[in-house]
Amino acid sequence: MVSQASPALLGRSQDELECLAEDLGQPRYRGRQLHQWIYTRGCHDLQEVTVLPSAWRQQLAADGLRVGRSSRAACSVASDGTTKLLLEAADGALIETVGIPTDQRLTVCVSSQVGCAMGCRFCATGMGGLQRSLDPHEIVDQVLSVREAMERRPSHVVFMGMGEPLLNMEAVLSAIGTIQRECSIGQRRITVSTVGVPGTIPRLAELALQRLGRVQFTLAVSLHAPDQALREHLIPTAEGYPIDALLADCRAYVASTGRRVSFEYTLLGGVNDSPRQASALADRLHGFQSHVNLIPYNPVAGAGFDRPADAAVSRFRRALEQRGLAVSVRASRGLDEHAACGQLRRHQSPPQA
Ligand code: SAH
Ligand code: SF4
Repeated sequence: MVSQASPALLGRSQDELECLAEDLGQPRYRGRQLHQWIYTRGCHDLQEVTVLPSAWRQQLAADGLRVGRSSRAACSVASDGTTKLLLEAADGALIETVGIPTDQRLTVCVSSQVGCAMGCRFCATGMGGLQRSLDPHEIVDQVLSVREAMERRPSHVVFMGMGEPLLNMEAVLSAIGTIQRECSIGQRRITVSTVGVPGTIPRLAELALQRLGRVQFTLAVSLHAPDQALREHLIPTAEGYPIDALLADCRAYVASTGRRVSFEYTLLGGVNDSPRQASALADRLHGFQSHVNLIPYNPVAGAGFDRPADAAVSRFRRALEQRGLAVSVRASRGLDEHAACGQLRRHQSPPQA
């Protein structure tokens, strides 16, 4: 799964590292040692792995191999403990990741790309365009970096940071494989969020089964509107993917994977938060037995959208519940620290399109 041509060791399994050692004329246990230092000790540089003979460390480096960790460019901790990291990849790309703690959980909100090509009008990441997709090791690194910064083991991973995961599907699935194997975070505690890209949901069902053996992570689909016209206004790329076609793909995904799909709905004040729109949304989701995650909008400067009123959020929630849907409202976390997707990076540097 991880391309052996990749210079990064992060992402490789113990067996792959043992084979690498063997191929380079070392005993297999050297690969086990590398594995332990990379995943358990979280080393950043091969020169730190002092249990290895220094000549071999130098040989690995001379062969162009490296651990593949990103470095920390910025860290901010909100009063509720939410920790946002800006990580710098080997080529200087800035990757945003967030650790969200509760008593029981530590959820890592990972990015799958630097920037995003989808251009949703309300989203800070979308405003800067796509810089590039992340490699698998750059996704896994985010989980290790949050563990290191917060000195606590992450329990959950959500692909809700920068980027559209289904436009980087191979890398996302490879990273999920590594995260479950090496970080002991089972697929049931992993969520992949998509805004909907034509053709990718059926492909995800197929490829996940091939790559992971079974599909147990949760697919969350960002709807944000009960009708096509408003959806297109918020998400310009939705023009090529009618809401009926998107929901048909979701139904097929449920049938082929046996997993429920959940829906995200970012509530924008006065735009998509009326009781009439809640009722229209419930009509759309009829028969899905689904879970809807309401996300009160965290305003982005220059986007022209407002946070919804608390009363509107409660009304919207009640209206969906009365129609039999399971609803949660995402608690505002770390609002004092440029909380939303793409905002930390944007605050730190001009968007790099
Ligand atoms: N590209 C994927 C995953 C990353 S965005 C997607 O769009 O689903 C994850 C979620 O964060 C999406 O539901 C998106 O609508 C939401 N989001 C983005 N910017 C936001 C903001 N400023 N306030 C609240 N939610 C936001
Ligand atoms: Fe991309 Fe998701 Fe932001 Fe839309 S909401 S621009 S799909 S990251």
